[in-house]
Amino acid sequence: MTDPEMWSHDHDAFDECVRALEVVHAFLHGELSEAEADLVRHHLHACERCMESFEIENTITTMIRLSQPTTPAPTLLRHRIALIIS
Ligand SMILES: [Zn+2]
Repeated sequence: MTDPEMWSHDHDAFDECVRALEVVHAFLHGELSEAEADLVRHHLHACERCMESFEIENTITTMIRLSQPTTPAPTLLRHRIALIIS
């Protein structure tokens, strides 16, 4: 996407992008209302730039979710637990 035409007009579209990306985490976590989620979904379908960012976010979120059950407790927490049970 290097077409300068695309970047020179519409600030409105840019605003929408900023808003869409602001709520993309909430969207991925299912924390948005139906109406808000719909707006994000529409924007992502219409906007290649945001779709790309969304896919990156989505991949990261999925990876985090998948890795959570096997993630060991942070060292500090493990030390605290060790102190409590010793
Ligand atoms: Zn966008």
